[in-house]
Amino acid sequence: MDPELPEEIRILQKTVRQFVENELAPHEREIEERNEIPRAVIDAMAGAGLFGIGHDERWGGQGFGKLGYCVAIEQAGRANASLWNVIGASAGLCGTAIEIGGPDEVRERYLPRIFAGEMLGAYALSEPGAGSDAGSLKTAARKQGGEYVIEGFKTFITNAPIADVFVVFANVAPDRGSKGITAFVVERGTEGLTVGPNDEKMGLHGSTTAQLFFSGMRVPAANRVGEEGQGFRIALGTLDVGRLGLAAHSVGIAQRLLEASARYAKTRVQFGKPIAVNQGIQWMLADGATEIHAARLMVYDAAARADKGERITQRAAMTKLFATEMLGRVADAAVQIHGGMGYMRELWIERAYRDARITRIYEGTSEVQRMVIAGGLLEDA
Ligand SMILES: Cc1cc2nc3c(=O)[nH]c(=O)nc-3n(C[C@H](O)[C@H](O)[C@H](O)COP(=O)(O)OP(=O)(O)OC[C@H]3O[C@@H](n4cnc5c(N)ncnc54)[C@H](O)[C@@H]3O)c2cc1C
Repeated sequence: MDPELPEEIRILQKTVRQFVENELAPHEREIEERNEIPRAVIDAMAGAGLFGIGHDERWGGQGFGKLGYCVAIEQAGRANASLWNVIGASAGLCGTAIEIGGPDEVRERYLPRIFAGEMLGAYALSEPGAGSDAGSLKTAARKQGGEYVIEGFKTFITNAPIADVFVVFANVAPDRGSKGITAFVVERGTEGLTVGPNDEKMGLHGSTTAQLFFSGMRVPAANRVGEEGQGFRIALGTLDVGRLGLAAHSVGIAQRLLEASARYAKTRVQFGKPIAVNQGIQWMLADGATEIHAARLMVYDAAARADKGERITQRAAMTKLFATEMLGRVADAAVQIHGGMGYMRELWIERAYRDARITRIYEGTSEVQRMVIAGGLLEDA
């Protein structure tokens, strides 16, 4: 807990933590084993207001700014990571893209329901040939009267199997490269939209991911998010927020792993004494505590700057890079400190270790974050 946080954010932090520990954590084993999040649990998260935290009250959000958003997400890290993933893809990515892009009619039509958790969203940017290089996406949109006809496909789309709406990025002018990319809200059930089967993943069991196929899919022009050609700017602006959220989530997951590791080290006796008395174990704990502290400060700093209206592209990239790489090290140390038990499904440690791996890949790999950081640095030099 950070004493420097404003009073209302500290109350939010405590409330979310209690909800996560009392209402969500008891479901984590069931979610892992069934590879499914019960709808009642998603509804409970909606009822607790989790989908709206950090989003503008004007559009049905709960307010609290990006600092509140990050503090809440950090606490969500104290239960199965799949749970936050549903909210992160829905309100965090799909909702933020609509919030950033507008226009007001589109915001009014979708955001209140997305931020209430009544409507689940997905964010469809990646394609089989366009992952790190998302600007080279090939999905095409052609204007025909009052509609756009969209052809193409998307891959690895979180929430796709359960989403009610998708923000889809397509190019209206391929000769203009990424400057032709345009965003659209596509409703589930739209003719020409096919959602593929749920992908099998290393971790994040319960969170759903699938491909999308668009064949002659007609979308009303009134569902365009922002102007033609603004889609890539909207996509990148959304990812600044998403990366910050992922960093906050990584801090929360790492904190819980560290606490569990310290507790285990105090109770596990070998050579006649708790393993915690060994300097080799203490150093792993000390390094973890230090890195978590640094990552948390980076998250809070970037979030506070975002709340002041500062552009945080560089800081979001640095924060995501550091926090997710830190989580990788802390999760690895947690398995090591738990020894054989750390490798067993009986505990949640091995699941957290697998779940942690994706944070260095999605919403821009660690290499992409370094490209963004170096790009900004060299531009200013
Ligand atoms: C579980 C999961 C959920 C996801 N959810 C979503 C979602 O909801 N919406 C969405 O749009 N996408 C989603 N994604 C896609 C995700 O954002 C991409 O997987 C990610 O951006 C990497 O793209 P790629 O997989 O094509 O890897 P590639 O771009 O092919 O990269 C492969 C490797 O090459 C490296 N590399 C690439 N270019 C360079 C370079 N110039 N310099 C150095 N190294 C480089 C990468 O860092 C990586 O290590 C999801 C992915 C997964 C696995």
